[in-house]
Amino acid sequence: MRLTLATDPASPDRPNEDFVGVTSGAVVLLDGAGIPSGMESGCSHGVAWYARTLGSTLLAEVTQSADPLTELLTRSIKAVVSLHDFTCDLSHPGTPSATVAMLRRTDDTLEWLVLADSVIVIDTGTAEPTVLSDDRLERTGALHRTELDALPSGTPEHSEALRRYIEIMRGHRNREGGFWVASADPLAAERSLTGSVPTERVRSAALLSDGASRLTDLFGLVTWRQLLDLLTHEGPHELIAQVRAAERDDPYGSHRPRHKTHDDATAALWTFR
Ligand SMILES: [Zn+2]
Repeated sequence: MRLTLATDPASPDRPNEDFVGVTSGAVVLLDGAGIPSGMESGCSHGVAWYARTLGSTLLAEVTQSADPLTELLTRSIKAVVSLHDFTCDLSHPGTPSATVAMLRRTDDTLEWLVLADSVIVIDTGTAEPTVLSDDRLERTGALHRTELDALPSGTPEHSEALRRYIEIMRGHRNREGGFWVASADPLAAERSLTGSVPTERVRSAALLSDGASRLTDLFGLVTWRQLLDLLTHEGPHELIAQVRAAERDDPYGSHRPRHKTHDDATAALWTFR
């Protein structure tokens, strides 16, 4: 397999809450949901720990078992719960959570799974690539962030509105009619979106945290096809460099409202032929 990847924290003085890892036949990408300072989570380990522990557990599962991806994720969520349910309050509404995007190659198919807002883009040689995303988080968020989007990023007012927004979103997390994300409830794994593509049709497949996919889905600066071409010809680090440049051009989010001026950004490209 040929795989290239890059990951970059939003800020050099904060841990990267994205996780990416590969085996000889699978790729796993997680994006831990950041918790602003001053908000409680009930967990002493933190979001970066949650994302890398769940991610590495899922990687281990995928090397051990051919079970469906949702079952591997169910078992992984349960395993991570068992690592800290005796020290942390996992019933807390702010308990750490992470998005999941994963690919597994079997003899003749490429299986995919997405949960919450990380994105998979598959190039099958058609004009438009296939974009696999779970928009339940985005649809739920859009109902509640009018006030937040109207405020300049990086101001105390924006930080306060972000805290209120996150409180509201916690009430919709892992509930029917809301959105689903990997956290303390294994049921979320069954709510993942999944599917498969015949491997012979696949040229390449990209996995992106929302900090990297924003070049297309938030900023609209390139199409999905152009994003794949950028990954293929210039590499994941160049995609992230272009994201950072676009963020610097709009530091207060006045043209492109967003929760964070910069976000952890991760991109992986798996090339098949
Ligand atoms: Zn904990």
